[in-house]
Amino acid sequence: MAGADILAGLINALDSGAVRVVDLTETLRPDYPTIQLPPEFAQASPFVKNQKSRYDENGPAWYWNDFTVNEHTGTHFDAPIHWVTGKDLPDNSVDTLNVGHFIAPVCVLDCTEEIAADKGFILTKAFMEKWEETHGRIPAGGWVFMRSDWRKIADPDNYTNMQEDGGHSPGPDAEAVLWMINERDVMGFGTECIGTDAGQAFLFEPQYPCHHYMHGAGKYGLQCMTNLDLLPPTGALVVSAPLKIEEGSGSPLRVFALVAG
Ligand code: MN
Repeated sequence: MAGADILAGLINALDSGAVRVVDLTETLRPDYPTIQLPPEFAQASPFVKNQKSRYDENGPAWYWNDFTVNEHTGTHFDAPIHWVTGKDLPDNSVDTLNVGHFIAPVCVLDCTEEIAADKGFILTKAFMEKWEETHGRIPAGGWVFMRSDWRKIADPDNYTNMQEDGGHSPGPDAEAVLWMINERDVMGFGTECIGTDAGQAFLFEPQYPCHHYMHGAGKYGLQCMTNLDLLPPTGALVVSAPLKIEEGSGSPLRVFALVAG
């Protein structure tokens, strides 16, 4: 099929509802939790909005705000330059990434049962190989998303599930990350939790293996998503375009999926 026909078909499908758009984004707001690092490190800033005018003496016909936010607050994208392992890669910051990567298929791993039973669930290569027996091979250049239904199970007053010994949220182990990179050549890894790494991943070898290996391999991360329960295991198309911040390490973004039916 010619490209023009494909686009015309997509436009028709969006118009008729044969293809739906599913928002995977949390609302950026001051009380949205940020990741908490050990206290010796600089902490991410929350979202802060400062109103400039709202149809008043500061601007009689217009409403607008300034805002400040860390690149890694709210639903956000991680670029390879975010991690020291990716610091010397070409085109590794959000302003230089290949824009063709901003549209990609996704495999959604339903880990909800496991994570309901253990919020610190560790995603393994064995889990993904078993998933493939049912759903087929994870395609090269696609995202892998770990569905947790986190918003439904996390304590709203302790979203990161911080305990005395650190956070307890799910994530992959080093072997699983290396498998996704070397055996499946994925685009990146996405999660509904506060980080692509497990809350206890500061104890792993290497520390934070998802950041360490994914960004070292030029791959991406998506964090703090929602609504992954509205995606099929395969066949959805994710649109994730970070802000074009000069030498940015990541950015909050609107991420959504095109879903058939
Ligand atoms: Mn991040």
